Amino acid sequence: MKYDIVIVGAGPAGLMAARTAGEQGLKVALLERKKDIPQIHRSCGGVLNVNEPTFGEIVRFDDEQNVVTFTKQGFTIAYDGPYRNVYGFHIYSPGEVRLEFGNFAELSKAPQKNRLGLATSKEHLLRILLEETEKHGVAVFPNTNVCSVKKETSGVIVECADGTSFEGVFVIAADGINSRIARVLKLNKDRYFFGTTRDASIEIEGTECPDPEGFLFMITQRGIFSMIPHYQKNCYHMDASTYRRDIQPRKLLDYFIHEDPTFSKWYRGAKVLNHKTACVVNLMSPLEKPFQDNVLLIGDACWRREMSNVGSLSTGYRAGRCIAEALKRGESGEEGLGDYFAWYDEHYFKPHGTRKQGGRDFSEYLTPEQIDYLAGLPNRQFPQTMDIYKVVNHIGKAYSELFTRISEERPDVMDKLIEVREDMDANMERRLKQGFKNI
Ligand SMILES: Cc1cc2nc3c(=O)[nH]c(=O)nc-3n(C[C@H](O)[C@H](O)[C@H](O)COP(=O)(O)OP(=O)(O)OC[C@H]3O[C@@H](n4cnc5c(N)ncnc54)[C@H](O)[C@@H]3O)c2cc1C
Repeated sequence: MKYDIVIVGAGPAGLMAARTAGEQGLKVALLERKKDIPQIHRSCGGVLNVNEPTFGEIVRFDDEQNVVTFTKQGFTIAYDGPYRNVYGFHIYSPGEVRLEFGNFAELSKAPQKNRLGLATSKEHLLRILLEETEKHGVAVFPNTNVCSVKKETSGVIVECADGTSFEGVFVIAADGINSRIARVLKLNKDRYFFGTTRDASIEIEGTECPDPEGFLFMITQRGIFSMIPHYQKNCYHMDASTYRRDIQPRKLLDYFIHEDPTFSKWYRGAKVLNHKTACVVNLMSPLEKPFQDNVLLIGDACWRREMSNVGSLSTGYRAGRCIAEALKRGESGEEGLGDYFAWYDEHYFKPHGTRKQGGRDFSEYLTPEQIDYLAGLPNRQFPQTMDIYKVVNHIGKAYSELFTRISEERPDVMDKLIEVREDMDANMERRLKQGFKNI
């Protein structure tokens, strides 16, 4: 079976690449190991970032036409599913002291202008993309688990667990964060490894959470958990994540809901819904050049964690378009993809690719009271954002200006912060030992 492109993985990145390449008239095969492609088994809040730059793209949503527009690249998705507006980030300390990246109550007075996210039904979104992909003549193979890729003179051969194989002039690897293709191509060998996290996620309704319009991160003595607004009103995706092998993330979620001294009161009358998801994430530094042997890696497959739905959709569109243009010019190798590499470098790798992930875990060192003290210090509203990179930068800057004050007011806290810093390498080593480097 010979194709112009064989795409592995039908998440947001692979589906968008398939839809785009099919639309451009290419002969495309899309291989996915799930039986029912739109079904979501892996943790994801389903939020699309809008109105704020995400990897150089700005996405807008038209509520009347039900159209999501990627304004920089100029493509659209007709999304007619349910949604809810999301306005920013709040971080809570163990005693409920809040760092605010956006005043949700104020901002929600003008939703179209102020929302930074659209909590969608990811299942509905993927179903729309799948239908369009099929309409454009893409051959879709669900229940197909890809094992390896091999470069031959005629093209790239993709081999599957059921013994079938597919040949493509190009292959697009969109097989997610723990990409088997990245491993088979030996691309992970030189990547910096930051550890392995395991997440358990649930959908929960009827909470008494005080600010339901944004992403919430709760720092507790047992670790961090998060709540992401669900498209249904009064409902959240709730997630617990851990690096530690001796902790079961699902038990951790139960602890936050039923026993946490501060936050369990939010869940007194809440109901956990049936749809439960989970994921394992091997965190590695992003690929500087996401290409080898005519295989282009897109979406999470070339990234560390959470390129995001918007980031993955963007790489999918760009990849499908650039390969179509290259083949039309008669370029069937690396030389045809210069435009893709330059775009990826400008918007993905250069701004974010070399960032290191620290081995700090403050809650193992500081008491809840000490964290509450720190959380109360900035005494200001941070700029509204849903960009985690910006959140980290704002926090870093705010606290670097506060060290003198902390030393004077709370030498006990300063001593702990110094200890955290001194232990950083040892902490990271402990974390790595419990992880799984995907080589
Ligand atoms: C807890 C959590 C919450 C998140 N919440 C959000 C959010 O609210 N908003 C947001 O923008 N992002 C969120 N993300 C990130 C987002 O889910 C990912 O960035 C996005 O799904 C990546 O898309 P992708 O297509 O690159 O990979 P994936 O969505 O992982 O898709 C990869 C596909 O490849 C298939 N596959 C894998 N291996 C093979 C194989 N060997 N053969 C065949 N098929 C294969 C998989 O089955 C899957 O369908 C979240 C992530 C986590 C962990």
